[in-house]
Amino acid sequence: MSSAPTRCPGCGFEHPAGTGVYEGYYHASPECWNVFLQVMTREYEDAVLFGQVHQLSVDAYAVQHAGGPHPDKSVCIHLVGLYWTLERGVAPPDVPRRLQALAANVERWPHLELPAQRAALTVAHVADADTPSEHARNVRAWSSEVWASWKEHHAAVAQLAQRTFEAVSSGA
Ligand SMILES: [Zn+2]
Repeated sequence: MSSAPTRCPGCGFEHPAGTGVYEGYYHASPECWNVFLQVMTREYEDAVLFGQVHQLSVDAYAVQHAGGPHPDKSVCIHLVGLYWTLERGVAPPDVPRRLQALAANVERWPHLELPAQRAALTVAHVADADTPSEHARNVRAWSSEVWASWKEHHAAVAQLAQRTFEAVSSGA
């Protein structure tokens, strides 16, 4: 007996219903999360690929799984990650320290409503890649779509990014 396909609540990726359990706070199905872990494993095993796109993959996945129990802080931080890489051309390996600085500088995180239309590409597009160069290309296409789908919040994210290097004590 085969069961009907189910959808990831975050990205909409359709997959056969499984029996796994996902206990993290991303708005994700266990099956989608497993695909993400496969993509992570490939990136951890290839130093070049890791440097090229790992941060983009992490940020795109997090942002595409906003909603549900996913905290505003995490959604905002990963949106700022996409902003630095895709809008400002910061190299992905330089993004994490910026995000750490941002996290230290912000106490209250805005709640950004989910985009009305989600990106068509998902992490499954990356998992389908046959070579590292295709993997990198697919991450760029996927993360660009995810970022574009949040366009109504781009200005708010840019404003948040500006707080990255402010002193903690400079608050209101
Ligand atoms: Zn998903």
